[in-house]
Amino acid sequence: MSNNIQLVGPLVRLFLGLIALTGITAFANQAQAETDTINAVASFSILADIIAVVGGEHVTVTSIVGPDSDAHVYSPTVSDARAVAAADIIIINGLGFEGWISDLIAAAEASAPVITATEAIVPLLIEGEPDPHAWNALANATHYAASIAAGLSALAPKYADNFAANAAGFEAEIDTLFAEASARFDALPEGRRTIVTGHDAFGYFEAQFGLRFLAPLGVNTESEPSARELAALIQQIREQAVVGLFVENITNPDLVNQIAAETGLRIGGRLYSDALSVRGGPATSYLSMMRHNIDALLKALE
Ligand code: ZN
Repeated sequence: MSNNIQLVGPLVRLFLGLIALTGITAFANQAQAETDTINAVASFSILADIIAVVGGEHVTVTSIVGPDSDAHVYSPTVSDARAVAAADIIIINGLGFEGWISDLIAAAEASAPVITATEAIVPLLIEGEPDPHAWNALANATHYAASIAAGLSALAPKYADNFAANAAGFEAEIDTLFAEASARFDALPEGRRTIVTGHDAFGYFEAQFGLRFLAPLGVNTESEPSARELAALIQQIREQAVVGLFVENITNPDLVNQIAAETGLRIGGRLYSDALSVRGGPATSYLSMMRHNIDALLKALE
């Protein structure tokens, strides 16, 4: 309910900004005809990178939510509406990750096809609700790439072979990384498999490598834990063999720092959960993000 109230401000601003939008879509379509490049809009940075990899030279990608930013609680802007209105294709994660996206697309009166990258994925359920962080399983990223390749190919069939080849190259890199990582995670003793991080973004990650993640925040980042919930988590951490604490790039590190102070556990580093790093950081692409998270975790656990 509080969500709807928060949305009123941004949406009013959106509608006002949209009055100035007439003609932009026509201009964008003309520009596409001239340059022959597909203008894709992604909802968040991790997805934008996979689109750029699959699309290659035939696609330019704009990400609505940028690096190091939290897509769970994002408020769209007028320039987002402009980007969505001018898009040739809009690609989203789905599974309830971008709660604001339908309103944005409706407000922008966007006519581009909307592709849901997780469409072929059977989601993990948390208390009956789908866990949206499906990209955190390497195998799922191949489904993302396949959905993206299919969406782009429907728009530009003459490049379908390029998109398929790019997706296949991406899948080969994923397979190599998965084989390397699972050999190392498999070798961990049972008592060195539990980690604490900021929010429940790693359900798919733990399922693929046999780990256990605990977090003070749930699958969404919207609500803070109560003092009692936090005390229960700290009690659980004391009773279980927690090896490492990790802060995240998109959530406030205060809760994890507080847990470190109360349990005496060390902060093992930073994980990139829901967004890439800004340029110059260690996680500027999907594959470098997964490699960074895998290496950071193994450094603490091995
Ligand atoms: Zn998240």
